[in-house]
Amino acid sequence: MKDLSLMTWKEIKEVNKKDSVVFVVMAPIEEHGWCLPLATDIIEGENWSRGAMEMIEKNSRIKCYYLPTFPVAAASVNTFYGSVHFSMRTTFEVAYEILDSVRHMGFESIVIIASHADPDHQIAVIKAVRKINRKYGICAIAPMGSIFEGTGVEPTEDIKELEKDYSNDFHAGWIETSSMLDIDDNNVRSGFNKLPDSNITDKDMISKRKQLAAMGEYGHIGLPRIATKEIGHDLNRNCIESISEAVIKFYNRAEYKKYDNYFLYKILPLHIGFLKIFGKVKRGKVGE
Ligand SMILES: [Zn+2]
Repeated sequence: MKDLSLMTWKEIKEVNKKDSVVFVVMAPIEEHGWCLPLATDIIEGENWSRGAMEMIEKNSRIKCYYLPTFPVAAASVNTFYGSVHFSMRTTFEVAYEILDSVRHMGFESIVIIASHADPDHQIAVIKAVRKINRKYGICAIAPMGSIFEGTGVEPTEDIKELEKDYSNDFHAGWIETSSMLDIDDNNVRSGFNKLPDSNITDKDMISKRKQLAAMGEYGHIGLPRIATKEIGHDLNRNCIESISEAVIKFYNRAEYKKYDNYFLYKILPLHIGFLKIFGKVKRGKVGE
């Protein structure tokens, strides 16, 4: 795998674009509770991409390239120190300009890893992917929305059990804390296993007011206290295998459709953020 930004334009000119895939991570700088850094989604996205690129190059003839991460993402809840959020419209436009630039160089398969599960972000990125695919024919995919919804490689029995018992783990809970413990536990502050549970149903997640209430003074939604490095290893592995499968199938343009089928995209009210009057990022007073 190679970082495109460290190459020269002449070197990029020589690349066999047909046999290549370009990875782009788009994720926010955003609060992740008391024990995880703002860059959590960026660190996860880079780890999953790197793992997938390794796996793809090992198991196929595809050569992988990537750009530096774009810390641009749409999100709706913004009342904590540290968060830098963008509107859906800006995120869509940035994603589109990136895709257009990379496609313009001649690359025919581009993958956006939108490692931030917020529907606002997924929908903005997928909209850009659809626009570029209409313009040039199929050349891009953003598989994370479908993978977060459970498409992809079957998780281990332990993970399935946890997902059943502790399902509403939306933000900086056991899923993300475990993932970060596995990637580099230096990034996880001690005391995560003493944080209180913060529960909300998936139905109530639609309400920003209820999301904020669930976050309270902490900022997480879920159960960070049950996180472990071992769970993180299984979760990261599963993500890497799912991305790798999605990309190889997409490269072959065969059986990749399930990774291009984010269920929430079809819910039209979730697109309301694209309208100027509704789409402004509401920056509330940061919490004490
Ligand atoms: Zn996150």
